[in-house]
Amino acid sequence: MDSIVAACLAFAEKAVDAVPDAKEAQKLGSLPTQALCEAAAAVTRRYADRTFNFCGIVNAKSGRCSENCSWCAQSRRFETGIEIYPLIDAERAVQAAKQAEANGLTRFSLVTSGRKLSPREVRETISLVRAIRSSTNLEVCLSAGLLTESELKSLSEAGVVRYHCNLESSRGYFPQVCSSHTTDDKIKTLSSARVAGMEVCSGGIIGMGETEADRIALALELRTLKVGSIPLNILAPIPGTALGNEPLLGDEEILRAVALFRLINPTAQLRFAGGRARLSPKVQKKAMECGINAAIAGDMLTTKGSAVDADKRLVVEAGYRLDDLKKFDAQHLWHPYASAALPPPVSVAAGGHGARIVLSDGRELIDGTSSWWCAAFGYNRPEIVEAIRKQAAELTHVMFAGFTHKPAVELGKRLIKLLPSKLTRLFYADSGSVAVEIALKLAVQYQMVLGRKSRTNFVTIRQGYHGDTWNAMSVCDPAAGMHTLFHGAMQQRIFIDAPRSVFGGEWNPQDVDELKAVLEKEGESIAALILEPVVQGASAMRFYHPQFLVEARRLCDAHGVLLIADEIATGFGRTGKRFACDWAGICPDIMTLGKALTGGAVSLSVVCVTNDVADAVSCHAPNALMHGPTFMANPIACAAGAAAMDVYMAEDWLTKVREIEAQMKEGLAPLAKLEGVLDVRVLGAIAAVEVKRAADNRILGPAFVREGVWVRPFGRIFYLMPPFVISREELKRLINAFSRVLTDWVEEKI
Ligand SMILES: *Cc1c(COP(=O)(O)O)cnc(C)c1O
Repeated sequence: MDSIVAACLAFAEKAVDAVPDAKEAQKLGSLPTQALCEAAAAVTRRYADRTFNFCGIVNAKSGRCSENCSWCAQSRRFETGIEIYPLIDAERAVQAAKQAEANGLTRFSLVTSGRKLSPREVRETISLVRAIRSSTNLEVCLSAGLLTESELKSLSEAGVVRYHCNLESSRGYFPQVCSSHTTDDKIKTLSSARVAGMEVCSGGIIGMGETEADRIALALELRTLKVGSIPLNILAPIPGTALGNEPLLGDEEILRAVALFRLINPTAQLRFAGGRARLSPKVQKKAMECGINAAIAGDMLTTKGSAVDADKRLVVEAGYRLDDLKKFDAQHLWHPYASAALPPPVSVAAGGHGARIVLSDGRELIDGTSSWWCAAFGYNRPEIVEAIRKQAAELTHVMFAGFTHKPAVELGKRLIKLLPSKLTRLFYADSGSVAVEIALKLAVQYQMVLGRKSRTNFVTIRQGYHGDTWNAMSVCDPAAGMHTLFHGAMQQRIFIDAPRSVFGGEWNPQDVDELKAVLEKEGESIAALILEPVVQGASAMRFYHPQFLVEARRLCDAHGVLLIADEIATGFGRTGKRFACDWAGICPDIMTLGKALTGGAVSLSVVCVTNDVADAVSCHAPNALMHGPTFMANPIACAAGAAAMDVYMAEDWLTKVREIEAQMKEGLAPLAKLEGVLDVRVLGAIAAVEVKRAADNRILGPAFVREGVWVRPFGRIFYLMPPFVISREELKRLINAFSRVLTDWVEEKI
């Protein structure tokens, strides 16, 4: 028995990332129920979402259906005595939705009868959806038949996030129970819904006379379509329909079906739908243990919360969580670069240590991102935590106008020691983007007070990233960057091509020609050149030749243009030097630092300025830099920064970064051979793999988490920027997991 369970587990493990072989899947059908259920229960605990997902539905249009589905009371071919009504109005839809929300549900589906909605009904449904979204926080799903792609698109834009269309039965059996449309019609609708930007929900009905082989075939078809939500209905024969006399399925056969669906679809939401009410609570609970982790709940318009409450008790008894952080998060919190209507999958982080993020369920992820590159010295670094604790007990905040304090001075002392000697003046700010704003503002003020009134613009290199605020956006890559949408609304900056000479390669002197030409032609309009030295991070993960910086420094001086080095990502050892500018041996006029400045503990940034610039701004009217964030030099943030700088200075991080570099170079090299990979590059503790197929973090995020690592690609760039404290063994595991998921992605197995 144990060996059968083990074989089932091995089957499901493979099914997580790849579509199982049909023959292998059919073999499951011959196995004893107990083994199937035992294996399915283990797979459910391991791979399926442990937060039970309920959705509510409303029958938004009933009866008079032209189709001939043999099980359905709504077909006009059967006399079933059901209530018949046209599409409900907004008031009724909102009332049903509010009832669902009051019952604690987060997802709500409008279900309509008929082959498909008419164009007029589509317009009315759009109004219903808008009305529901404006008065509740429910995620709205829709089940409205075989709609066209453009109809689905308009519904998606109205706020429908998931489209439902059941395949109902296997491709082989479906024609036995319905001849008015086909499995392919349904699949076409599902793929159109995807193209229109919606998730899909599709499952079927068991107990219509089909064999277990048909159920397996259906589960497999759904796995092939990568359906994330699979409703499982148990036929409730309705007198008057063609299947009105169909015998009821027994408990064992139902449990087998649940287990089979789970083994073939290990990560899907397996949703109990119609027909479960006749099962005993004991059997329902058993079904939940071996695979069911979602359900349609309540009978929206007629029952109160009681039915839902009973369901919830059962769910908790079966070992699921109900109302956790994720639910509120999905309904109310907006995540970075994310949709509020269709919130991305998130993990709940509860702690961290070293290179690991600890999840609320106790799992640990080896972090390949340093939390967007800031947690360089590890999570919850004891020295930094202690400094924060101590400072919080003394003084949490005081305005920096008219006051100074020890943490600001202590952090300043350490920075002055670390910075190139010409950078002597520090302006603290809240975040990287704000530091960039200040640097740009400072550069313009510098030019203004010196009487160079035409110098209000900036030049920068393409494929750069400098933050998400307005002016920072204006100097991000205008085409490839993430702010293209705003292009027309922003100040137009001067963009030149990023140097083509790569880091470690040969320097091509022509790389600087464009900058030279621009400064000669338009220099009088330019206040500063802003760039990320050596490593262009968040927009492209490119590593370019440091000689460009040497030339740029020289040209800026010759043309009275300031040089702003944005070291927010590269500062404090990330590239293998303390600052990336050190590769070129240059000193900028203004340097921005952030991210690792507090070891990733608290938001803080600093603008470091030469005396030349600081004096010019200070000795000319208005004799001040007109900038002052409320939380400037926050004492807790500065204390964290000072402790982080102590950590930085106490250890030989540059050697550690070189070791990480060597291990990543070796470990990632095999990826270069993959068909879908364009380039593999490593510099310091940064590795980037450029692939042909753009990343989708809705799929990749959970895939990496399953592998026990945290990686977050963007666009066609998969990268690793691990915390410097990562151990050799952890980095090995990270590289292996990264390579596995990346390989599956480029080979389109996930
Ligand atoms: C991250 C980053 C910023 C923006 O910093 P935030 O703290 O996210 O505002 C600016 N410049 C560079 C180079 C960065 O990597």
